[in-house]
Amino acid sequence: MSNSPLVVYTKLSPNHSGQRTHGIDRITPHCVVGQLSCERICDCFPAGRGASCNYGIGTDGRISLCVEEKNRSWCSSSNANDQRAVTIECSSDKTAPYAMTDAVYAALIDLCTDICKRNGKKKLLWFGDKDKTLSYEPKADEMIITVHRWFANKSCPGDWLYNRLGDLAAKVTSRLGGETPQPSPSGTLYRVQTGAYKNKANADLQLAKVKAAGFDTYMVKAGGLYKIQVGAYSKKENADNMAAKLKAAGFDTYITTEKGEAVSSSGTAAASLSVGDKVKLDANAPVYGGTSKFASWVYSSTLYLRELNGNRAVISTQKTGAVTGAVDKKYLKKI
Ligand SMILES: [Zn+2]
Repeated sequence: MSNSPLVVYTKLSPNHSGQRTHGIDRITPHCVVGQLSCERICDCFPAGRGASCNYGIGTDGRISLCVEEKNRSWCSSSNANDQRAVTIECSSDKTAPYAMTDAVYAALIDLCTDICKRNGKKKLLWFGDKDKTLSYEPKADEMIITVHRWFANKSCPGDWLYNRLGDLAAKVTSRLGGETPQPSPSGTLYRVQTGAYKNKANADLQLAKVKAAGFDTYMVKAGGLYKIQVGAYSKKENADNMAAKLKAAGFDTYITTEKGEAVSSSGTAAASLSVGDKVKLDANAPVYGGTSKFASWVYSSTLYLRELNGNRAVISTQKTGAVTGAVDKKYLKKI
């Protein structure tokens, strides 16, 4: 894995977790809250600070490297995000809307294009929707933008940049030679619903069925009902196409623009787990890769998810230090 050739200054910060445990498929741009040079951005992350970023963009548009792209930076208040995201601190004003210079924005377009190219991506996506984005598995040639405000009570990257992320995605994608879906002017997203249930167990069942039929689906709660939905499309036509596919697979469909609150179900909880989460172990869960059980107290304990590698989840009763064992992540429920 390489670093960007656009970098003009390198000062590596010791603040990182070593090599990523997930391939790069996200870019998270931040506002650094200060009109700083790219050198000064690197200076923000000395040992002991507990923060870092992969790249910094100075007010004049020059780019620095603070943490090598192959390593997981400490930038977005989310281990799961930073394991897969290239993080970029952009010089900005110190107050809302944290405006950036034209030079910073132009450099951000250049840098995102370069990151996509070197990582084999042909499209940069911006959904503007946290639930949809975090439940989305980008295709091999897709990179998706995430923002810090989804993971912490912050306004980062500031409304100035937040309101341009659709433009950023479109410009980068067009430079990469790909097509950008035209967002609807209102920002309305069309979701295809295959069922709405009062009883969560029934919703879980339907979710599993839709999943088993090969669709990327998720559960939301809205109006007191658990709703099973597929996709979130800015063009109604695309939602119609998905509805037709679902119908052909035997599902009743309904297109809605209502945005619900994400619900983890027995089927999708595992997908949203991240290291550091507090979890409970299912009563019948065997030790990973075997059939033997854990000691009975493990099932009644509150556990911490300490590592996640594919389906293999390492758990512990302690947040740091000794670990208790490993289990398939499907047996864990976030609490
Ligand atoms: Zn941030």
